[in-house]
Amino acid sequence: MSSIKEYFKSVGEGVKSLVAGMGVTGREFVTPKITEQYPENRKTLQIADRFRAELTLKYDAEGRHKCIACGICQMNCPNGTIRLETKMVELPDGKKKRKLDKYLYDLGSCTFCMLCVTTCPQDALEFSNDFEQAVFERDKLVKQLNYRPEPEGEPAAPAKPAMDPEKLAAIKAEALKKAAAIKAQRAAEAAAKEAGETAAPAGGPENSDK
Ligand code: SF4
Ligand code: SF4
Repeated sequence: MSSIKEYFKSVGEGVKSLVAGMGVTGREFVTPKITEQYPENRKTLQIADRFRAELTLKYDAEGRHKCIACGICQMNCPNGTIRLETKMVELPDGKKKRKLDKYLYDLGSCTFCMLCVTTCPQDALEFSNDFEQAVFERDKLVKQLNYRPEPEGEPAAPAKPAMDPEKLAAIKAEALKKAAAIKAQRAAEAAAKEAGETAAPAGGPENSDK
């Protein structure tokens, strides 16, 4: 008799637990979704403006960028991600001027640290939030940022006045100093690694002798 009672008790508990579980499932069924179905939602997908996907040059309405090929971003980049190629052009007044030929950026080695953007004296760089950057070959991650054909002539009204040469020289000197410090640190780390030492030894040789 007691075994029949136990049987019906366990069946009741099973039904109760099933109803509780179905209640949770039902509640989640009508709760607004927070996940997105990608790539089906491509047309409506909204990526935060501050998301850093890819370095780009800023272009004005006429298709001009503001890069003056000063090389500060290249010097400041800790990963060697930026490579500038420049060319000398002759101006109408006969003077020569160095101009940007190719601005090459390797997305595959970028750490999105923003050092290049924040130190550019011309405010010529920004990050786009275009996150779809997957490719099948690593070479395709190296991009030429000045991809637009440059309009003829100088801009009628520059959006931003040229930087004071002294200030520019100071920024360049600071960038060179930072780059030299980073290079020295890397060389020291490489030498320590080669000698089998740790980057920050816990005890000196005098401690190990004791
Ligand atoms: S720091 Fe700015 S202006 Fe100088 S090379 Fe880089 S993008 Fe061009
Ligand atoms: S974000 Fe940092 S790693 Fe990327 S290109 Fe700029 S300086 Fe180099």
